[in-house]
Amino acid sequence: MAPPLEPSAMHELSLVMHLLEVVEEQARQESFQRVSALDVEVGELAAVELEAFRHCFEVASTGTVAEGAALHLVCAPGSACCRACAARFHLPELGRPCPRCGSTRLEIVSGRELRLRALEVC
Ligand SMILES: [Zn+2]
Repeated sequence: MAPPLEPSAMHELSLVMHLLEVVEEQARQESFQRVSALDVEVGELAAVELEAFRHCFEVASTGTVAEGAALHLVCAPGSACCRACAARFHLPELGRPCPRCGSTRLEIVSGRELRLRALEVC
C-alpha cells in the first residue's frame, strides 16, 4: 500500500488544533496568559509535513495563548518490532519490511506520536 498523499494540510491542521487544545487546557490549569515557546516532538512515522504544520500553527494559534509563540519541532525516530522474528529496529518510514527476515508483519513501537514536550511561559 502506498503512503497516503496529503493534497491539503488537513492532517496537520487537525494535529495543530489538538495541540492548541492541550496548551489552552494547561493555560487554564496553571493560569498563565501567554506562551512564548513550544517544544513539540513529532514522530518520524506521524506523516506530518513540518512546513505545513508550522504554517497551520501560525494560522490556528491566532487569538490563543500560543499566538506568536516560537515553535520548536523535534523529530522522534520511528521504531518497530517484527512479529515474525522479534527483531527491533529503526523504522524511518511505514511500509518497509523487517531488515532481518523481510516480514511485513511489524508492530510500530514508537514514532507515530505528536507530543508536547515543554512549554515556555512569559
Ligand atoms: Zn523479522
